[in-house]
Amino acid sequence: MATATLMLLAFLGGMAPEQVTVAGAKGDTKLPVRLDGSGAPVLAAAPLLAALSGSVRIADGWAEVTVARQPFRFLVGAPLYVFSSQLQPLAGSASLAGDSLFLPLQFVAELLPYYLAERYRYDQRTATLKDTAARATARGTSAARETRLANGLRPGHIVTVDPGHGGVDPGNPGTFFPKGVREKDVTLQIGVLLREELRRRGVGVRMTRATDTLIALGDRGGYCSEACDLFVSLHVNSLAKRRRYTEVRGFETFFLAEARTEDAARVAKMENDAVRFETGQDDVGVPGGLDFILKDLQLNEHLRESARAAELVQRRLATVHPGHSRGVKQAGFMVLTTARRPAILVELGYSTNPQDGRLLTTRASQRKLASALADAIVEYLRDYERKVGMVSPGAPR
Ligand SMILES: [Zn+2]
Repeated sequence: MATATLMLLAFLGGMAPEQVTVAGAKGDTKLPVRLDGSGAPVLAAAPLLAALSGSVRIADGWAEVTVARQPFRFLVGAPLYVFSSQLQPLAGSASLAGDSLFLPLQFVAELLPYYLAERYRYDQRTATLKDTAARATARGTSAARETRLANGLRPGHIVTVDPGHGGVDPGNPGTFFPKGVREKDVTLQIGVLLREELRRRGVGVRMTRATDTLIALGDRGGYCSEACDLFVSLHVNSLAKRRRYTEVRGFETFFLAEARTEDAARVAKMENDAVRFETGQDDVGVPGGLDFILKDLQLNEHLRESARAAELVQRRLATVHPGHSRGVKQAGFMVLTTARRPAILVELGYSTNPQDGRLLTTRASQRKLASALADAIVEYLRDYERKVGMVSPGAPR
């Protein structure tokens, strides 16, 4: 980053252009450059991101700007940004004026051409950002045909893997797990294996946690926004003591909707209960009715995709899991409500059953489960690509 740090000095003392041109898929867009309160050059985010086919999400004082599927996070009001988990300085700050977000000119003139050099070029003389991929697509040349991975997938998919619980929230106590092993340990072990298996299949992975730490339920879904294809939450089921409760085993996959059965409602209540471990969240109730969420059109749009992903996961798990398939179910999981993309929650087995307990804590079978999940996810992504019309003639079925 030494060059970029040096270059940013130019923005402090130098002359800012009056406008910037974005040469993208939608032709040339001219954007006026303004000076913010500290005299630093900024651009209105909305027209800029429209020209770049990007998006922005503002939460907790951060503006997450996604361009070409890559998220840049700006700390609003401070000259800092995060890319690829690295916190870096900026010459100016992202700022809010009313509802409008402004981004430092440096984002266009420096960050995009630096991090996404294969796609963006910035010409300082004409103050023009060229999107080279957009030009190729517009021409419809063979250059626009993307290369395919061996499994037929387009490169660039991102899946968020969410190992349930963590930190002070142990999840269920793991009755038939080895001593000291709880649900949070097993979800993390299988989550890390799933990351490995997905990466081997050319799918990018973002983890909500990769260590033994607590992530609030309401924050987990945020890891899967614009640039993310699917949110997968991993859990282990358990039953309260009752007659013959240790005999129940098997796996089930949920997507978010109103619970249809008493048992689905029970599982949702159990997983939502993790909210009590979040400090300062004592009075935040778990949403009772899901009406308000189901009215959300964006979410409804994802319901069918989520159900399809759940179905494929169940089918693949059945080939490696000796317990029986308890099916695809729907219930009101808080962790799924915040994902703005298709989202599923997998209960991989019962820790209150001796066979499932062994299966879930043995390395070889953990690997088999992770591999089956990864296969199901690849199948889902391939279906999805086909559905949205990105036909790949050579793709194996
Ligand atoms: Zn759980």
